[in-house]
Formats: sequence, structure tokens, C-alpha cells
Amino acid sequence: MAARVSSTVPTMTSAHPTPAAAPIAPSPSRAARQAEVVQALLQHLPAHALLWHSEDTTPYECDGLTAYRQRPLVVALPETTEQVQALLQACHRLAVPVVARGAGTGLSGGALPHALGVTLSLARFNQILTMDPRSRTAVVQCGVRNLAISEAAAPYGLYYAPDPSSQIACTIGGNVAENSGGVHCLKYGLTLHNVLQVRGFTAAGEAVTFGSTALDAPGYDLLAAVVGSEGMLAVVTEVTVKLIPQPQLARCIMASFDDMRKAGDAVANVIAAGIIPAGLEMMDKPMTAAVEDFVHAGYDLSAEAILLCESDGTPEEVEEEMGRMSAVLRAAGATAIAVSQNEAERLRFWSGRKNAFPASGRISPDYMCMDSTIPRKRLADILLAIQEMEKKYQLRCANVFHAGDGNLHPLILFDANDPDQLHRCELFGADILETSVAMGGTITGEHGVGIEKLSSMCVQFSAEENAQMLALKAAFDPAGLLNPGKVIPTLHRCAEYGKMLVRGGQIKHPDLPRF
Ligand SMILES: Cc1cc2nc3c(=O)[nH]c(=O)nc-3n(C[C@H](O)[C@H](O)[C@H](O)COP(=O)(O)OP(=O)(O)OC[C@H]3O[C@@H](n4cnc5c(N)ncnc54)[C@H](O)[C@@H]3O)c2cc1C
Repeated sequence: MAARVSSTVPTMTSAHPTPAAAPIAPSPSRAARQAEVVQALLQHLPAHALLWHSEDTTPYECDGLTAYRQRPLVVALPETTEQVQALLQACHRLAVPVVARGAGTGLSGGALPHALGVTLSLARFNQILTMDPRSRTAVVQCGVRNLAISEAAAPYGLYYAPDPSSQIACTIGGNVAENSGGVHCLKYGLTLHNVLQVRGFTAAGEAVTFGSTALDAPGYDLLAAVVGSEGMLAVVTEVTVKLIPQPQLARCIMASFDDMRKAGDAVANVIAAGIIPAGLEMMDKPMTAAVEDFVHAGYDLSAEAILLCESDGTPEEVEEEMGRMSAVLRAAGATAIAVSQNEAERLRFWSGRKNAFPASGRISPDYMCMDSTIPRKRLADILLAIQEMEKKYQLRCANVFHAGDGNLHPLILFDANDPDQLHRCELFGADILETSVAMGGTITGEHGVGIEKLSSMCVQFSAEENAQMLALKAAFDPAGLLNPGKVIPTLHRCAEYGKMLVRGGQIKHPDLPRF
């Protein structure tokens, strides 16, 4: 990551630290607890698989949400599933919290350590166990990198479709935990739609299997419960993924717009025309300027917004779909349309989009990446509302996002060394999330809740709904040891935040805007 990525926690940094985020000063009791846990784990793991000195555990103190840091009590790097199981059983016996960790690229603080807990790194689970081109599946260990699956499948003409921009580093275990998406998920689905079976262990060390290698599994669909559960229900060790054939051809349209509303409406019009592009992404002017300086993708710097719109399939399918997409974009007011003429040019169009986050480091010392979703027809409304918020909070914001999915990624630009800017940035972020909810959207599309959006969960869900989510967690983890303090806010927190939502889709809190 070129820039420091941080994110919004409106009330957490100062007044209301979460238990997981609260800094713990070294104390005799902490040292004693550490010794007790290390001794217990040494019964099951070799010494080289355990880290507890601060110089060894500091690299694990945060994920991609670097504004919040906490050194764990112990870091464990097991090498076998037997060791994972034994570790979980030992931690359960001693009531030690456990936080699973993949590559640590998460943007919502999901892998932030617990001060008195074990960070369970799955980095050594990096083997592709089977690759079966006949069933178009692969069985992979949880620490395998997303891109490594497609690289291994490429000789068979296959690939794994979900493609987060972090795919060079992030792990399939992290993808399962966050239900990660990417540019091509509009057409091919999120992680949930591309995995068949997930195996792992509960907090108590009981082996569990979710889904099956067939297309359906008996009983409740617990695969859908564990995918996106942010490491709260089980530690994932093995994933069976679906592979799909590489398309014969892919081409990309780059369309320029002189007006944000026209660009937003064009996205809705493409989908309304019955077209599901392989990717449909949007960037606003500040973002294209930052990116163009960085990768020279050939973007139109005079445009208020550009859309990248991809078609894939057979040459005939692509030609037909490109024609229809171009017609819709022109009718929506595109001022210029460029079509990739070869694979190198297509990759150049995408290079800017894929490098947008790091490119932000060129225009600001820090940025805060938001992740709300919005119904497509409201895209223009939220973008214009964000422009008003820039004036209100006196901070700039650059937008780059999965427009076809209605999944925003506003990058609020600020300087974390200025406490006032950080404060305004947090308020700005919370405003975007809550405005998205008020417009019929959600507080997260793919980056998860983690610690970042705990307070905003009070806006998205009622107390009863949050209680049901806690009940589901308790069914898997009655002692509350797996990734505690994340994702589901307590009633107390919501009361302190002062925003208790939601009846019949109506925001109840008097301070929230109506749209
Ligand atoms: C530059 C950049 C671009 C990004 N682009 C995208 C994008 O396009 N789309 C997208 O969806 N995300 C994106 N992300 C976010 C991030 O890469 C994803 O959330 C990713 O899935 C995290 O994987 P990880 O291995 O790094 O998990 P970590 O960050 O280590 O962990 C994430 C969460 O998963 C849990 N977890 C990890 N492994 C396991 C396991 N084996 N069992 C149980 N729980 C586990 C952790 O406890 C934590 O709650 C981006 C991040 C960066 C920095």
C-alpha cells in the first residue's frame, strides 16, 4: 500500500474505544497471562510457530485500517490443521480471544488484534491441494492468495472470478471472511457465489464443514452464514472454489461525461437495458487526475466522470454487447467513447482503476476509504450529496467505485497528523454511510464492518436485529472468543452513539437527513 489507509470510526478514537482497540499498558498481569498462554500453546505448536516479544508482534498490530493499532498477546503461525485445532481448544480452555488473520489487507480493522488475545496467522496454509479441470473446482488452503488460484488454473483455461484490487496479496480465507468482491463481480458474483465448500474449526476447536462439493447441501444454508462472517463464527482452513472458463475475448469502453448526474444515470441505464457488463466502474475527475499522473492510462482529464464498461464472451457476443452499451452510453450523454482495440489497451484502461488507491497517495498524505452501497438509480444523488459534504467538512474527496454494483468507494483525503482533519474526516465518513442508508443503501458493500463501522451498524440495524446477529454468533461461539468486539455493536454502544434505527425502512433519529 502506497498510502496510509485509514477509515471512519466516528466515536471510537476518542470517547468510546472498543475493548479490542483499547490500548493496554504492559502490566504484571498481562505478562503473567502471556506466559500462561505461551506455555499452553507450546504443548501443541513448535516454538518457532509462536511470537510474543513486542518486536515480533508489532508487525501484526493492524491491518489495512492503520489508524487503529493494538499489539496482540501472542501471534501463532501453525502449519497443520491439527495445530489449529489444538490451539483453538487450548485457547477455549483458558478463555483466550482468538483473531484469525490472512494477509492483513482488510480495510475495516477485522484483523485488529485483541490486547489479551492470540492472533492466529494462517499465512502458512498456502497450498493448492487439488485442481480439477473436469469439475472446474480447486481445493485450496485458506492462506492461498486470490491471484495464485487463477495463476494455477490458467494452464487449464480456467480462472477464479472474484478479483479484489488487492488480489495479488489477499488470501482466500480473508475473502471468505469478508465476502470480498471486485471489478468483475457484477457479472460473476461475489465470493459467496464462487465457493462450494468451506472447512474449518469453531472457537472450541470442533471441525466444521459448510456447503458441500455438490451444488447444494442439506439443511440450512450455513455456507451463506459463514461467508462474510468476518472471522466471528469459525476459523476457515480450506476452501473449495469454483473455476470458470477464461473468456475468448474481452473489450473495454472508456466513456467520458461532463456531468456527474449524467454519468450516474448512464450506469442505471446500462443495467436497465438488460446488459450485465463484465465490469462497470466509475471514477470522478479528482481520481482520474491522480491516477493519470501515476500510471498514464490515457484517461480524459477534462471529463467530470469516466465510466469503464467491459464486455466479455465470444467475439460475436462481445461485438453485439459493445454496440448496445455504446448506444446506451451515447444516449445518456457521453461526450467521448474510446474502445480498447487490443488486450494491451484493455489492460491499460484497467490499470488506472486497479491502481486508484495507491495513486491517492500522490494527492494526499492520508485517505479514508468508505464502502457503502446505494441503489443504482440513486448514484448521482449520493455523488452530489458527497460534493456538498466536501464543503461542509472542508475536505476533498475522490471517487472510484464499482458503479454497476452501486458500491461506492469515496476516498476522503486528509492529513492524519492534524487531529482536527482526522475528526472532520470521521464525521464526513459517517455522514456518507448514514446518507447511503437513508437513500436505501447499506453501510458496507465488500470491506466488512470490522471495528470501522460498528457505530454505523446502529444506524443500519435495529436493536432486535443486532441481538439476532449476536444470537447466531453465540450458536457457534457461546463463549464469545472468536474475534470479539467486532462487527456487532452492543446496545450500550448504540445508545451512546445516539442513533437507534429503524422501522419500515424509515430512519428514526431526528438528526439524520431525509432524501
Ligand atoms: C489496496 C486495496 C484494495 C482492495 N480492494 C478490494 C476490492 O476490490 N474488493 C474487496 O472486497 N476488498 C478489497 N480490499 C480489502 C481486502 O483486501 C479484502 O477484505 C480481503 O478479503 C482481505 O483478505 P486478507 O487475507 O488480507 O484478510 P485479513 O485482512 O487478514 O482479514 C480480514 C478478516 O477476515 C478474517 N479472516 C482472515 N482469514 C481468516 C480465516 N482463515 N478464517 C476466518 N477468518 C479469517 C479476519 O479475522 C478479519 O476479520 C482491498 C484492500 C486494499 C488494501
